[in-house]
Amino acid sequence: MATAPNDADADVDEFLAQRGHETGSPGWGESYNKKQCPDCGGLHESDASTCTVCGWTPRSA
Ligand SMILES: [Zn+2]
Repeated sequence: MATAPNDADADVDEFLAQRGHETGSPGWGESYNKKQCPDCGGLHESDASTCTVCGWTPRSA
């Protein structure tokens, strides 16, 4: 029997780890040192205050 690649499982684990490790500003996710919109998943620079993709804004202050 050929061995099945585990790349898919690894990707899922990494994805879940990122989703469950939001230590930045409330609301924003983080991915590859960028802010990630929790609504559409769009990536933005660290100084972004709103999502330019879907218009989402953090609910802080
Ligand atoms: Zn968005």
